[in-house]
Amino acid sequence: MILLRRFLRYLLSAHVWIVLGVVGPLGMLSVSGLMLLDLRRDTWDRAEQTSQNLLQVIERDIARNIEIYDLSLRGVVDNLRVPGLADVSPVLRQLILFDRAASASDMGVMLVLDESGNIIDDADAVQPRTANYADREYFQIHKTNRDQGLYISKPLISRLTGVPMIALSRRINKPDGSFGGVVMGTLKLSYFMRLFDRIGLGQNGAINLYRDDGTRIMRYPSVEADIGTSIAGTSNFERFARDRSGSFTSISVRDKVERHYAFTHIADLPLVLNVALATGEIEAEWRSKAWIIGGTSLVLCGLTIILALWVGRELRHRTAMQAELARLSLTDGLTGLSNRRRFDEALPHAWTGATRTGKPLSLLIVDADHFKCFNDRYGHQVGDDVLRGLAHCLIGTVHRDEDLVCRVGGEEFALLLPETDLSGALRIAEKVHSEIAAFRLWPAGLGAGAVTVSIGVACSDGGRRTSTTCNELYRSADAALYEAKAGGRNQTRWAGTTGRDLEKSSPLLRIVNT
Ligand code: GH3
Ligand code: MG
Ligand code: MG
Repeated sequence: MILLRRFLRYLLSAHVWIVLGVVGPLGMLSVSGLMLLDLRRDTWDRAEQTSQNLLQVIERDIARNIEIYDLSLRGVVDNLRVPGLADVSPVLRQLILFDRAASASDMGVMLVLDESGNIIDDADAVQPRTANYADREYFQIHKTNRDQGLYISKPLISRLTGVPMIALSRRINKPDGSFGGVVMGTLKLSYFMRLFDRIGLGQNGAINLYRDDGTRIMRYPSVEADIGTSIAGTSNFERFARDRSGSFTSISVRDKVERHYAFTHIADLPLVLNVALATGEIEAEWRSKAWIIGGTSLVLCGLTIILALWVGRELRHRTAMQAELARLSLTDGLTGLSNRRRFDEALPHAWTGATRTGKPLSLLIVDADHFKCFNDRYGHQVGDDVLRGLAHCLIGTVHRDEDLVCRVGGEEFALLLPETDLSGALRIAEKVHSEIAAFRLWPAGLGAGAVTVSIGVACSDGGRRTSTTCNELYRSADAALYEAKAGGRNQTRWAGTTGRDLEKSSPLLRIVNT
């Protein structure tokens, strides 16, 4: 029960209150911070997942369409070798060469070019249109490179239709393996535009399709100036080129917006696709939550800390006030010495200590002589000053921490001296007389020797020889004081039968006149 009460008192101490009041909210703030970080990680995981899903869907669509288109081109190359093709009618020749896939809506033209770049077969016209493509990059590449396979051109404007497109082409070999021309089909950029348009990526999100040399084929949102530009050499593109697929966060070279890039190479084609989400937009929702949760936690924790500090300060103030009140309740207002109450507490305590340890305890009662006369002659104010002076003299005679000097009555003082035997107590009494003999109060015209005191001394030997009480000790000292008064004042009397030979005598207290 006592332990519990002590613990509760400790809990209510200002120190504990302040520590708990600060550490608690800070802990809660840390937990909120960790939760917000976790929420942020989830947001990024979701964005990554979304990007990867989009990437997969778009990649599959493009890969499948180009594969189908390439199959048509391969078909043309193979069909050109059909025996007797040169002899069939133009209508039949066209039917043999070109399959239906080549006429899908996003496919542009499909042409067979001879080794000079002239159109010899046209999927859209029985009578081939007239144009020469010898200057086109893909034509030159197939001409000089026998093993090129499928070639995907940079974005171009179709010579026949005028629409932006990319050209997919394959080389035609003559029976002897030499260059025999090119079969070329175009894929309109509108295909990519429609494909990307279906996807909502926020205001600053983007989808890009590049050739593996860094040339941009299409961008969403689409701006004409972006098509055909190259980002080769930029750190972002180096990353795209180095890894087959992956993701990273970087600043866009195009518009300086920070984005999270998820990228992949499309099947075995020389194409790189990326889905780029603006980091600001990925985190936008999280940020607004973070502001609300973080802000609220911060304000609440701040208020709690302020409240705890305030309550702590009040508690400290109250504790200090209680301590001050306790001190005042045990202090004499006039002299600043301990008062009667303190003396009444200290005497039994010192007595018990002396009984337990068997060590001596001395008590001196000091009373000003004819003090009434000072009041009558010099006034009450001077009387007070003399009392203060006496208190000062008494304090000067003792030096051990356990010694206690009290004002126990109007002009009566007590010196309680633990572990002090009679001879020690008499030495202190001598010091008191000599200190007071030197006391002067010039403003009142009181010179040295004007004030004297009488002292009664009693001493216990710690209860080794006789048992007695602390009240008896007090009464003995008081009786000795009475003797000193009766003996003419300005002197010390002690309770006992003899003087210096007291140590040899047996009774615990030497009491005069009892
Ligand atoms: P004795 O030598 O027998 O002790 O004579 P005395 O005059 O000192 O003793 P008495 O008990 O007759 O008078 C004590 C006086 O002390 C009475 C009172 O006016 C004065 N006194 C007590 N307390 C105070 C105080 O706080 N201030 C002042 N100025 N005087 C006080
Ligand atoms: Mg007196
Ligand atoms: Mg008195």
